[in-house]
Amino acid sequence: MVHVPMFSLPSGARANMKTAIHWLLPLILTGLGLFLVNLIWLYPALRNIRESASILALEISHRVETTIAADLTATLNDVQAAADDIASEPDRSSLILERLLRRHASLARVVRVERGGRELMRVSRPTAESMGESASAYTARPIFYAALQGVSSFDDVEISPERGPHTLLVTPIFRGGKAEEVLFVDVDLTGLTHAVREIPDLTGHMYIVDRNGVQVGHPDIAEVIKRQNFIKRPIVRKVILDGIVADGLAPEDEYVNEQGTRVFAVGFPIPIAGLGLIFEQPRSRALAGERQMMFFAAAAIALGLAFLSIILRSNIRLTRLNASMRELLTDLDNAGKMLVRRDLELTRANVRLEELDQIKSEFVSIAAHQLRTPLTGIRWSYQAILEEGQGNLQPEQRKLLESGLSTTLRMVDLVNDLLSVARIEEGKFGILLKKQALTPLLARFADLFSQRAREKGVAFLSEIARDPSIPDVAFDEEKLGIVFDNLLDNALKYTEPGGRITLRASREGDHVAIEIIDTGVGIPPGQMHRIFTKFFRADNALRLHTSGTGLGLYVVKNIVEKHGGTVEVESHEGKGTTFRMTLPVA
Ligand code: ADP
Repeated sequence: MVHVPMFSLPSGARANMKTAIHWLLPLILTGLGLFLVNLIWLYPALRNIRESASILALEISHRVETTIAADLTATLNDVQAAADDIASEPDRSSLILERLLRRHASLARVVRVERGGRELMRVSRPTAESMGESASAYTARPIFYAALQGVSSFDDVEISPERGPHTLLVTPIFRGGKAEEVLFVDVDLTGLTHAVREIPDLTGHMYIVDRNGVQVGHPDIAEVIKRQNFIKRPIVRKVILDGIVADGLAPEDEYVNEQGTRVFAVGFPIPIAGLGLIFEQPRSRALAGERQMMFFAAAAIALGLAFLSIILRSNIRLTRLNASMRELLTDLDNAGKMLVRRDLELTRANVRLEELDQIKSEFVSIAAHQLRTPLTGIRWSYQAILEEGQGNLQPEQRKLLESGLSTTLRMVDLVNDLLSVARIEEGKFGILLKKQALTPLLARFADLFSQRAREKGVAFLSEIARDPSIPDVAFDEEKLGIVFDNLLDNALKYTEPGGRITLRASREGDHVAIEIIDTGVGIPPGQMHRIFTKFFRADNALRLHTSGTGLGLYVVKNIVEKHGGTVEVESHEGKGTTFRMTLPVA
């Protein structure tokens, strides 16, 4: 049964997923790691920036708040002092109040009201004369009753387009330990606008809110006239309602203002008049360092990830390279093993071949031996019949017998060559060296071949006799006979009638040099290198003499080298050949 998996990814998709895991996992982990490491320094750095901004803003705000509070306190103190003066010298009250107005430019009017609500006196600045409320309007206010209880206080701020922000300050006038009268002082608060305009930092602005959250102070008086209420801003509530300083570090201190700008703000309560001072600055400016830090952190993470991805990429490439190297090595290993196997097989085959060669040589040797005896017999028989039947033979019979004899002689040559080669290869080609004169052997061959050359119409020159100084050489007469026979036979065979053969022998230092020079067909240059190999016959020789074994020169070279000599050939096709051999002087 074939098992079909329910779900399987194609191999390409699986490889992609593998690569993604290889890539993504380390990237994500490093990203997280870098993020955490960055947090370690980023968080305190951001806090530092925030704290510095907070300290600066608080310092500026505090200066303004102190000025305003001091101003209001001074006003309150002077008003209270005036109330005390009136209590002790009621007759001079008019003078006292005028002096008070002179001292404080922000005071527009002072009204002296008795406990029952009747207005006793009113002192106004000339400019404020036409304005002002009636005594009943003053006494309707809750602060009037607070004053009767002995409490001095500022009333809610009022804003009018003509006068801007202003308020009422009430203070009791004690007589006999009891608040018998109340002083209503109309205080102009446009001074607040001047106070918040003075801030040195131009990146933000300050504003003042009253206890209801209404903006009563702003660098631009037109903004005050709008009577905007900011009680919804948490920082305003914190400062006004809770009466605590907002240092800008709490998240709720931040807000988005009317212009849609997110602001960094600090706030101070001014308890004396129930006011609150807020200093707001665009967050992007106040905390500009924060953004730079965040940018650095992001850049550090991005750089880290970029480095990692480069490292990962080269790592993946290396892994792939490694895998293909491993494959290559495995292939090489296999190839090596195969080579060793082949080598073993070849060695075995070689051993087998050598064995076969040995068997073949032995066979040839035995066969040639067995053939030589009957062939010799046949040869002698032919020769005997030809000699004895001299006169009795018909020309036809003679021709037949001569042809038979020549074939037999060729067969004897062939068998001799085969026997020599077989013995050489069997290592049984025994050579018996004997120190002796070389000239007689050479002379014998010169005689033999000059006769045969004459028969063929080839001139034969022997240059041995002219050099009597040829020293003795250690040689095997029979074997060297084979050499001369082969070389001279070749020279005669491959030289056309009309040509010339020269046999030359001379001493050359510690060698005897023998040269057999003919003016025959020569050897084709492209085949010279094969001349001493077994069974080789050149193309032109094959055309000239169909019979021949190609074994003669192989045997020659072997015999000469076993005598410690050399043999070499020089030939020009169509012009002639020179075989030159050397034998060491004994
Ligand atoms: P064979 O003469 O029986 O062919 P050899 O071994 O004696 O065999 O010679 C090999 C070959 O060398 C010859 O077939 C012939 O091509 C070439 N050769 C040898 N001697 C001569 C020569 N004197 N002139 C031209 N060719 C020669």
